[in-house]
Amino acid sequence: MDKNQAKQRIEELKALLWENSRRYYVDNAPTMSDYDYDQLMKELEALEEAYPEFRTPDSPTQKVGSDLSGRDGFAQYPHRYPMLSLGNTYNITEIEEFAQRAVKTLDTDFTYCCELKFDGTAICLTYRDGHLLRALTRGDGVVGDDVTRNVLHIAGIPRRLTGSGWPEEFEIRGEILMPYASFDRLNEDRIRNEEPPFANPRNAASGSLKLLNSEEVGRRGLICTLYHIPSQSASFETHDAALKAAQSWGLPVSEHRRICHDIHEIEDYIRYWDEQRHFLPFATDGIVIKINEMAYQRKLGYTAKFPRWAVAYKFKAEEAVTRLLSIDYQVGRTGAVTPVANLEPVQLSGTVVKRATLNNADQMAQLDIRVGDYVHVEKGGEIIPKITAVDLGRRPADARIPDFPTRCPDCGAPLVKAEAEAKWFCPNADGCPTQIKGRLVHFLSRKAMNVIAGDATIEQLYTRDLVRTPADFYDLNNWQLVQLDGWKDRAATRFMESLAASREVPFERVLFALGIRFVGETTAKEIARHFGDIDRIAAASMEDLLAVPDVGEVIAGSLYEWFRDERHLEEIRRLKAAGLQFSTTREEASSDALAGKVIVISGNFSISRDDMKALIEHHGGKNSSSVSGKTSFLLAGEKPGPEKIRKAGELGIPVLSETQFRALLPGAAPEEDENLFSATLWG
Ligand code: NAD
Repeated sequence: MDKNQAKQRIEELKALLWENSRRYYVDNAPTMSDYDYDQLMKELEALEEAYPEFRTPDSPTQKVGSDLSGRDGFAQYPHRYPMLSLGNTYNITEIEEFAQRAVKTLDTDFTYCCELKFDGTAICLTYRDGHLLRALTRGDGVVGDDVTRNVLHIAGIPRRLTGSGWPEEFEIRGEILMPYASFDRLNEDRIRNEEPPFANPRNAASGSLKLLNSEEVGRRGLICTLYHIPSQSASFETHDAALKAAQSWGLPVSEHRRICHDIHEIEDYIRYWDEQRHFLPFATDGIVIKINEMAYQRKLGYTAKFPRWAVAYKFKAEEAVTRLLSIDYQVGRTGAVTPVANLEPVQLSGTVVKRATLNNADQMAQLDIRVGDYVHVEKGGEIIPKITAVDLGRRPADARIPDFPTRCPDCGAPLVKAEAEAKWFCPNADGCPTQIKGRLVHFLSRKAMNVIAGDATIEQLYTRDLVRTPADFYDLNNWQLVQLDGWKDRAATRFMESLAASREVPFERVLFALGIRFVGETTAKEIARHFGDIDRIAAASMEDLLAVPDVGEVIAGSLYEWFRDERHLEEIRRLKAAGLQFSTTREEASSDALAGKVIVISGNFSISRDDMKALIEHHGGKNSSSVSGKTSFLLAGEKPGPEKIRKAGELGIPVLSETQFRALLPGAAPEEDENLFSATLWG
């Protein structure tokens, strides 16, 4: 390669790496494997090494990838000490070289601390006087997004430290992770709602941490593990001692680290965790080897991007190679056509894999996949395995280019594709049986209207021409049902009772049941609470819709379009006439009645504690977990915590019962005592 070619390749690699870095950190939707990304980075490093005149400060080799999205909602703060990345390798020889360099440079006895490399998103917590002051994401390494309010909803992160001996103010860094169980639950919901599933738990953790709705962050089941107190922030002799101290202050620190004395012990640790990591409930993507003594860490220092005193050994994602037998094209309830690969069964991470998703036509083209090919299948904790590559060297002569259908496999309508979308759609929403039945199944499903009916019932009702849209369910009668094959009086009565009960299902779930594209359970809840009733949503402009937390252009656009369709408005008129809930109750409506109030709740209420917290937020109040001088009042239900009551009494903080609290909300009957905030009224 001559100089000009090198320059051109460097430019190409820089553009490719930045683009993929944005997809990975900002969109949380990578399209390239980590291994491929790391190989391209190594190629760029080697070229910049050979031609240092082409190395610029903006090169991805010189800066950490940025997760700053630039969207509203998060204040940004500079990091006191830069948050860097880690040098990494998939090659054990390079770990040996790292150890040899350390031995040579330090020229004295020292130890290594080996840890798991947790595959989540980095977080930096600052504690002042034992209280959590701020939580920042890594951002671009220099400035991070302030996600404190979200972090307060993550289990295991203490607001207040326990024990003693912590520095007046210090930082501790670690990772926010989404355990596999939470990840599978979240993705199952997203797939059911035809929202794109997260590619892996790392992306799901990072996307969840940046949600604007803190309550939803709490529901996502994230966890945290901390692994680094910067040496400038607190003085400890060793990294291990710093982590032990952190543990004694109640901070979540992993038990799985080990002190190693030489490369053999490091290699043992790597071998052990390469096997055992499959039994962990969360994702790890390697191990991290750190020089344990702080004085030697300082001596080795940093490059612009990495500490020189640590290195990561990365595990390659588990994969298997098998044959692609055929491709099915499935139509979803929104008309999206998804190609699904049928594979020769193969063992992968302890399960037999027979099917894998191919996502869309673009991805199939990118892979250059043919029926009959040998393909690489990967499963990194995800429920649905995916095809990551094709073994072109083993392509059989009779391998067949897949013919992505041009017509709907169900109704035959010509498929369409919007420019900005990767998926093809069947536009025949009102005539395509799969879409119609899919919408009906969704409408009755447990999280929507919760009507007891199997897919077979819907098939029968559809085939007999009794039901085409959800409103038709409410026109059914017992007599029509008992005419159906296999239906007895009891089954018909149960179905009718279940339908009658669905009239009480709250508005947010009715909105979800309508099956508007991209409006999942959580989004429906946000929208219902924000607008209060369906007519206001129908009349909302794009700007009004975009004002709802966590609603972006795509969701807003989908909603806006849906309500512009006269058939949908007619359907709503019929459902309203059938008695379904199309507005929030007083409890769910929002106001600013509690604006500026910091409220601590304790005990049991007539609604769940989560719902009570949500109610407070919907009326502009702020939830806090401990009683302090800043608390406006303690809201005490049945069996409140005695410690909280005592503390409130000590600080002269008012204590309100649920009834007194509800009297503060709009629309409540006037209370006799008007001055609720000025006195302790309870206990
Ligand atoms: P990294 O994830 O490889 O390693 C550094 C990070 O590891 C730290 O920031 C920290 O958050 C984390 N970490 C986990 N456990 C740790 C422990 N015990 N001690 C210290 N740190 C620990 O580096 P990165 O800069 O976050 O990301 C770069 C990597 O991301 C690349 O190497 C690549 O694999 C991947 N990436 C992939 C794509 C893609 O398109 N697939 C794009 C960009 C980046």
